[in-house]
Amino acid sequence: ELKMIYYVTPTYPRPEQVPELTRLAHTLMHVPQIHWIIADDQPLCSEQVLNILKRSRLPFTHLSSPKPYLYKGGNFPRGVANRRAAVSWLRDNVQDGVLYFGDDDNTVDLQLFDEIRNTKKVSMFPVGLIGGFGVSTPIVNNGKVIGFFDSWPGSRKFPVDMAGFAVNIEFLKPSANMPYIAGHEEDRFLVSLGLKMEDIEPLAENCSKILVWHTRTVKYKKPTLKVNIDKLDNKKY
Ligand code: UDP
Ligand code: MN
Repeated sequence: ELKMIYYVTPTYPRPEQVPELTRLAHTLMHVPQIHWIIADDQPLCSEQVLNILKRSRLPFTHLSSPKPYLYKGGNFPRGVANRRAAVSWLRDNVQDGVLYFGDDDNTVDLQLFDEIRNTKKVSMFPVGLIGGFGVSTPIVNNGKVIGFFDSWPGSRKFPVDMAGFAVNIEFLKPSANMPYIAGHEEDRFLVSLGLKMEDIEPLAENCSKILVWHTRTVKYKKPTLKVNIDKLDNKKY
């Protein structure tokens, strides 16, 4: 029997939210045995997000996981309160399956789901459109991960993107945690699992294929309307 994949998506309200989640829903609707956990960055679960979840007809969990008030601008750690809430929900409610962190704006090849479904501990694979190199990926030799290719020089044991790994839920230790430190969320999370290099399972043909992309959507800017209300009111329609 197929293992369940728990697809964890942090999200927050903005003009692009509904289109992003609509597109992601339409990807996930093609995947068997998938449970979509949407963690909403708000004190209340949004009606619009719930509607997308319901219309997808997928099994889902909708969590309210407001971010700490201090994170407003600049390079703050995005989606951390959300992922933490999802991890604690999984710990309380799920015994087996595979956890994957999939942001609302990423693009996923359906092949990725077949690849991650049999993750024993932690699997890893390349992510396209990352940083200065255009890709972030483990480096594989003789079927083993021996290093990483990633353009951000921050000091990390596992320099990978959030979309570049999957975790077997049995391997989710009680110590599992994600810090509010921008750029270090993935690394610290993997370290908190007690992950060893030799435990990493390289996927996507020994990390030679890109099956997920860190796509980003241009932010919608409201056009400034220069309309003379008085003249409009005088017009006969
Ligand atoms: N996110 C969130 N709250 C925020 C900002 C972002 O929940 O205040 C979510 C967002 O919807 C996405 C993830 O966190 O699923 C990563 O954010 P974003 O895509 O903005 O970051 P980037 O990929 O550009 O680093
Ligand atoms: Mn993003």
